[in-house]
Amino acid sequence: MSTNMTNNPVSIYERRESDARSYCRSIPATFVKGAGSVMTDEDGKEYIDFLAGCSSLNYGHNDPDMKAALIEHISNDGLAHGLDFHSDAKGGFLTAFETHILEPRKMDHKVMFTGPTGANAVEAAMKIARKSTGRTNIIAFTNGFHGVTMGALAATGNGYHRGGAAAELSGVTRMPYDMFLGDGTDTADYLEAMLSDSSSGVDAPAAIMLETVQGEGGLNAARREWIERVAKLAKEHGALLIIDDIQAGCGRTGTFFSFEGMDVQPDVIAMAKSISGFGLPLALTLVRPEHDVFGPAEHNGTFRGNTHAFVTARVAIEKFWSNDAFEKELAEKSVILSDALQEVADMVPGARLKGRGLMQGVDVGSGELAGEICAQAYENGLVIETSGSDDEVVKVLAPLTTPRDIFSKGLSLMVEAARDVTAKHRVAAE
Ligand SMILES: *Cc1c(COP(=O)(O)O)cnc(C)c1O
Repeated sequence: MSTNMTNNPVSIYERRESDARSYCRSIPATFVKGAGSVMTDEDGKEYIDFLAGCSSLNYGHNDPDMKAALIEHISNDGLAHGLDFHSDAKGGFLTAFETHILEPRKMDHKVMFTGPTGANAVEAAMKIARKSTGRTNIIAFTNGFHGVTMGALAATGNGYHRGGAAAELSGVTRMPYDMFLGDGTDTADYLEAMLSDSSSGVDAPAAIMLETVQGEGGLNAARREWIERVAKLAKEHGALLIIDDIQAGCGRTGTFFSFEGMDVQPDVIAMAKSISGFGLPLALTLVRPEHDVFGPAEHNGTFRGNTHAFVTARVAIEKFWSNDAFEKELAEKSVILSDALQEVADMVPGARLKGRGLMQGVDVGSGELAGEICAQAYENGLVIETSGSDDEVVKVLAPLTTPRDIFSKGLSLMVEAARDVTAKHRVAAE
């Protein structure tokens, strides 16, 4: 079935879809199917998916157990929309989340369902911090990405996204992320100095908000010591620590939360993307009880919680996070991933690996080169994208569940693309 249903030679997307569309420009296939780590277009061509809905599909497309539970829920006339009523679906998710995620990690956080996008969860996190502390300033970091609604956008670093606001973005002070000033400067020293001197010009912060690995900002992975120090500084200065785990969470870095194994207990955690497990919209803000400051409906939204997403999210938690088998698998796969990325890095002088876990990529030095590698990979049947200030990082976000053989196949498509593109450049330079 062709989706161009008229004889007009200009596609329906060009005719009618807003110019704000983005991924479909570099990945222009018309997809009709997704199963596991493979997507199929209208001509039957198969693609290995190394984008995974920007980490919204950590368990792949149409996981059979989630799909079966959802179909059963719908067949039984389970609620599709339920405001924030109690329901079997919501109760089931909360119970699974408490049993397999919060309790084993000794986390006393409450779960606040926000509107269904990541930006909604970030807005709630920022409002919680401001209301709880009575302060307005929020510290966010260079290259951070937190969404594009006005509050979240103020915390986002990217100039292109910020420009889209065409309005003043306020209430956030920018600080340099780990390694932003190179190896020689510990930016936590700078942060400490700015917070400690009452004439630094930085207003006492309501929160310090960060991603432990900057997903859109170029896969910068902060060092554990840096994160622990920033957490300590937040506490010392009466600011909440907000971890934006929207992209790095749900196993992406190798553990359920990206900060596990670190000596930090965030006051607030924003989650979205893969929390539903199935690619359905669901976002939540985890908050320590003492900061659970909103009264009934004070921060509301018609689509808080998504009943279908609750059904699949429960299955995802029970299936993948009720023991440590999945984490072990992720650790093994992340080594395979580093090795393949190193092969690419070896072809490009000055290239370096970025990120950690299954959230890794290779900085090839220019957005042009990274874009060419991804475009060639796409021709060969791999969906893969770039990240970073200048899109200079080839970024692998394969579903965490990708079977070994498909994972290796996808990685070799990436390596081959890099080989073809770099060879072409060498010939051109000769
Ligand atoms: C994607 C993302 C967001 C925004 O989520 P949306 O669902 O696109 O609003 C916020 N923070 C991080 C770290 C993200 O990766």
